[in-house]
Amino acid sequence: MADDIDVANDNIELAIKSRLSTLEKFDKPSLSKCKECGEDIPIERQKLGNVTLCIDCKNTFENRR
Ligand SMILES: [Zn+2]
Repeated sequence: MADDIDVANDNIELAIKSRLSTLEKFDKPSLSKCKECGEDIPIERQKLGNVTLCIDCKNTFENRR
């Protein structure tokens, strides 16, 4: 019985860990300057996290796809 609980705890721990590593991908610090054109990225945009392009470049990039 105790073994079952241990296994369950291990599974929960794994689930939390994989959840955290997924979250980390969205929690990268933003760049203060656009990696494409070097334009300043507005603070409000930087707060979103993982922002590497200014709005102009992001629009260009998305239109290209
Ligand atoms: Zn740019």
